[in-house]
Order: sequence, then C-alpha cells, then structure tokens
Amino acid sequence: MTDKTKFIFITGGVVSSLGKGLASASLAALLQARGYKVRLRKLDPYLNVDPGTMNPCQHGEVYVTDDGTEADLDLGHYERFTGISETKYDSVTSGKIYQSVLDKERHGDYLGATIQVIPHVTNEIKSFILNNITDEDFILCEIGGTVGDIEGQPYLESIRQLAYELGRERTMFVHLTLLPYIPTAGELKTKPTQHSVKQLQEYGIQPDILLCRSQMEIPQNEKRKIAQFCNVKEECVIAALDAKSIYHVPLAYSSEGLDFQVCKYFHLNTEQQPDLQKWQNISEVITHPEGEVNIAVVGKYQLQEAYKSLAEALTHGGIANKFKVKIKWIDAEDVEKQGANTLLNDVSGILVPGGFGARGTEGKIAAAKYARENHIPYLGICFGMQMAVIETMRNLVGIKNANSSEISDDCEAVVGLMTEWDKDGAKQIRHADGDLGGTMRLGAYPTILQEGSKISQIYKTTNISERHRHRYEVNINYERALQLAGMIISGKSPDGKLPEIVERVDHPWFIGVQFHPELKSKPFEPHPLFVSFVKAAIDNSRLI
Ligand code: GLN
Repeated sequence: MTDKTKFIFITGGVVSSLGKGLASASLAALLQARGYKVRLRKLDPYLNVDPGTMNPCQHGEVYVTDDGTEADLDLGHYERFTGISETKYDSVTSGKIYQSVLDKERHGDYLGATIQVIPHVTNEIKSFILNNITDEDFILCEIGGTVGDIEGQPYLESIRQLAYELGRERTMFVHLTLLPYIPTAGELKTKPTQHSVKQLQEYGIQPDILLCRSQMEIPQNEKRKIAQFCNVKEECVIAALDAKSIYHVPLAYSSEGLDFQVCKYFHLNTEQQPDLQKWQNISEVITHPEGEVNIAVVGKYQLQEAYKSLAEALTHGGIANKFKVKIKWIDAEDVEKQGANTLLNDVSGILVPGGFGARGTEGKIAAAKYARENHIPYLGICFGMQMAVIETMRNLVGIKNANSSEISDDCEAVVGLMTEWDKDGAKQIRHADGDLGGTMRLGAYPTILQEGSKISQIYKTTNISERHRHRYEVNINYERALQLAGMIISGKSPDGKLPEIVERVDHPWFIGVQFHPELKSKPFEPHPLFVSFVKAAIDNSRLI
C-alpha cells in the first residue's frame, strides 16, 4: 500500500435495503471515470463464516468469485460496475474474523493476553481492511447492516480507529440514509437521518457525506436543515433518488455532485469532468430499447434477489441486442401443478437456473421437456443443466427412474455426488458426510469446448474459464446414450472426466452449462452466452 491510498467507508442508517452496495459500486465507478484506481470491499457483521450456507430466500444470491470465495451479492454489483474481479481479500464476516482470532488464540499467538473485542477483534478487522492493497487510489469499504446493530459495533470502532491512525485527509465517511415521505404531511422527513447520524457520532464517527435516499427531489431548505443538524456541509447532503434502472444510478449521483464532493474533500482535481460516456450509452439503450422479449426463469426461490446476477446478465444480453428482457418469474412447483404449457406458452426463451434440493425439480424437468419439444431456446444453468440431462435420459433414452442422487436415493443416478476433482493440478477430495460450508467445487475452472460445437461458436474459442458452485455432476459414462438421444457433451474439464456443457444438435438453441456464466457478465462486457440466448429468444419471438 502506498501513502496515496485513500479509504472511503460506507455505512447505512435508518433501515436496511437502501442499496448501500449499489451506492458503493456507483461511487467506485465514478472515481474510475475520473481516472482513479479503485477496489471495493464488503464487511458483513453476521456470524456466518460466509453466506454459502445461508438460505437464498433470506439473504439473496451467493456470489462466487474466481478464487472460489462465496460472498455477499453486493460483490456482484462491485464487479458489474467496475469490471474489477473481487477476491477473498474483499469479503469478510464476523464469523471469519472471530474464526481467525480464535485460531490465533489456540495457537498461542497472543502470548497470554486476555482476548477482547478491542483490540483483538478490531485489529483483525483493521488488518483485513489494510490487507492486499497495491497501488489503488481508493479502497471503498462497505459496512453491512444498519448503524445501531449490535454485531456492527466492532466494525464502526475499527473504522473510527483507522480514520485516527491514517488521518482524516486519507479517510472519508459516507452515510446512506432514507428520507421517508409522509403523504398526510406532504413532506420528506429528516428526523430519522438526524437520529442515525447522532448514533454514528456516538461511535466517534462524523460522516463527511450524507447520501439521502428519497422518492422525490429534496428541497434545498431540507438539505440545509440536515446539514445543520448533522454537522455536514450543505453541498455534501446529496440526494439519491429512486432510479428506474440500477445502471442510471452512477449518472444520477454524479449529477448530484457525489464524485465532485469526494474529490474536493481529498483535494484532488475537480476541474476535469468524469468520462461517463459508456454509462450514457447503456442508459440510452435501457431507456429506448428497440423491442421487448419475454423470457421465463423457472426457479424456486421466491425472492428475486436470489437470482440477482442472473437477472442482470439477462439485462446485459438485452442491452447487447438493444432489447429489453422481460423476465417472467415462474415457480417450478406451479409448473408441476398447472402444466408447462399453461405457464410457458407466452415466452420466447426458457431459463432454468441453479438450485439445491428436491423441491420443484419435477417442474424444472417439465420446463426442459417443453423447451425441447417446442423448439424454444433453453438455457440450463448448473441445476438447470442437470435437469435437462435427466429429462433426456428419462424421455428419450427411456430410463424412467433417471435422477440426481441429490434428489433421490432410489434412482438411476445420471447426476451423482462428486467426490474427487482436480484443482490446479491437486486432487480435491470430499465425502458424503463432510462439512457443507465452503466444500463445493467453487470458483474458476477451465473447460475445453468441442471444436465446431454451437458453444464454441458462441464463445469464439475452445478454451474458457467459468465459475462453479456445485456438489453434483453429470456422470460422463452416459455420454454415448445422451449423444444417441441428440444431446452432446460439448464442453468438458481438461482431463475429460467432468461434463461441463451439453447441447442439443436437433434444436435451434438448447444449451446446459454446469457453471454460472451470469457471475461474469457485465453491462459493458455482456456474457456471450446471454447475448446469444437473448438473440435466439428474440429470433424465436419473431416466429410466433
Ligand atoms: N444442487 C446442484 C449441485 O450441487 C446444483 C448446484 C447449483 O445449481 N448451483 O450440483
């Protein structure tokens, strides 16, 4: 780390779900647009070691980085907005912090000391923040949760100490709050923001910028009031208005002066305007698409946050085709009850995403069958690929009890538990009764694509690397049977043992992938699979 590295700490107040992750990612993108090198980090106060074992219905998607870290979905926003790959050095939880402190204590590293939150836990948090920094101009650290949460206190104490140690000229506090609108009073209310800042001040933190979420323009006199009560400059009370698309947010924040105020605070060049051309370009396509296409996502988690990267990747595929993708969220269990035809007859593409456990699997298999029989573009991701393979084995090969051993003990396990695989030349070994946390095949693995296959045309190469998060795999021994039924394995692990991609040769667009392409898609670098899938859906919609 050089002395020039500056730290911006982003906290949230009043309520959760204000979009701290997006605000952090947007600020980072704006600083990039001014020519600075940035890195984003997330500090989550909960006690899980990582979100890998958390229910996606509660916590949303588990994002996976190239290096196999299972992280909060905000890391997805960070990558999509900045194009910079996140790593294990950019995501931490209280669970991980305590685990490390306790490991050191057992090892005897603390030399007889009494282990306390201050300084042992706070030191661990500070060293996480300062670790693995090279020549970045800015490190943006988002503190998860809301000010006042019990679990969050050590984090606030740590960033307070860091501001003291590094100096206020190298540290900045941005606090995101909400100005609720009370219709009966016809007013935006500032009191919750005042209280939230008071609470932050109790921890010794004086915010430098207040980002105030609001559903309408904030009158200047209200900004002045907030500034006076909260000890913040009036021009540093910045409106963060609701946006129609998340990709409008950086432009909106910039026009409110966010990046300007940050540069002014750090005495950086404010004369030069940020280069926001690429943001303007995608905003334009999002606002004025040439058409719309309906794509069904047949999943089982009711919370759309559980499919965050997927929805974004479809949007990116749409942007590349200058189309708006309208996602029809379909519960796989409803497909079981109402039939595929009832729910899928008005869509131009069908996507079955990743998933875990038996619930809804028959609906997903029915969706794959419907797409195959009706020549509707189909993209199966991870579980969605496994379901498509099971469908072919059952209905075309004639193995009626074909299934995954994740779902049934009493089946022909076309998809089975993976107990061994190679990672960077070393064997990874897992057992059926081993720990569940952090033990899947995680992160980036290479795949070799079959020459001349559809997938190799889409990627325009035969060597790819994609991110994985799965415990089961299609059994390669069924390759011949699948091939006779029109489904080829067109991508494999370099040792040829693990099927990574299947495609149907008798179908306009039917592909299943064992990895998660959605994790690497970015608005400015849309993933080729999504670009091609959305294009196939658009072409299909023109046939209807
Ligand atoms: N449950 C499946 C497995 O573990 C698929 C996982 C996923 O879709 N991410 O292999």
